[in-house]
Amino acid sequence: MDRPLENRTAIVTGASRGIGRAIALELARRGATVVVNYHHSAEAAQAVVDCVREAGGQALAIQADVSVLDQAMHLVEQTVDTYGQVDILVNNAGTTRDRLLLTMTEADWDEVIQTNLKSVFNCCKAVARPMVRRRYGRIVNVSSVSGLVGQGGQTNYAASKAGIVGLTKSLAKELGPRNITVNAVAPGFVLTDLTADLPDDLRRRAIEATPLGRMGNPEEIACAVAFLASDDASYITGEVLTVDGGLVMHG
Ligand code: NAP
Repeated sequence: MDRPLENRTAIVTGASRGIGRAIALELARRGATVVVNYHHSAEAAQAVVDCVREAGGQALAIQADVSVLDQAMHLVEQTVDTYGQVDILVNNAGTTRDRLLLTMTEADWDEVIQTNLKSVFNCCKAVARPMVRRRYGRIVNVSSVSGLVGQGGQTNYAASKAGIVGLTKSLAKELGPRNITVNAVAPGFVLTDLTADLPDDLRRRAIEATPLGRMGNPEEIACAVAFLASDDASYITGEVLTVDGGLVMHG
């Protein structure tokens, strides 16, 4: 296959499992050197690295809780020390603490906002300087259709994902003049650990509401991210690309 991301170095946050794992593998397949960030799942992250290396690519696992600014800074520093540059940042790390607002605790709120939204601020802040210096960058943030249209039981999650949309558009305006694009993808329902425990009736209703009639695969999100991270998307910035089987349509 064509290797459009040859000579690019990418950081993918939360790449040990699920969508992040698929993104790391897809970027590597397209030629990028990949930093596989993880929080707790060291073995799974190393398995992603092994997979990339077995296919002849370059990858490295780096542990960091990206919801903490110092750790996000260190993740980027380690990447630049090892590979000399960072061209692509994919802010994928995320979590849920679904509850109705009436029973949601302050800890549920804080945990989701810190992990999903503060992490994006942290990692963008950490890569901004090295990218500005090189006058090149591709930032892709993983939002969600919940952040676009809301979802009962997800006030914290939807707020974090809507926040990512505002951050994406604002940062696209700030960094555009430096040849750095900032975009987001908004997945619909995708089969991962995050959705493994969805109640059967919610899963059935989600599938019924999706014109393509099924949940998405992590690889289908990864292909959209890889496109936005490539030079094929060089004139796209501040955009939110829904990858949801048609679940949410804007007209
Ligand atoms: P997942 O399978 O639960 O994986 C979550 C990943 O995030 C793991 O690699 C985890 O690392 C990492 N992570 C969590 N907190 C972290 C932190 N503080 N620092 C670094 N890494 C952290 O989730 P997923 O379904 O693949 O979701 C990935 C992204 O897509 C999330 O942003 C999610 O909101 C979004 N999304 C998912 C769906 C869906 O239907 N699945 C839909 C829309 C949007 P460890 O394993 O090392 O802890």
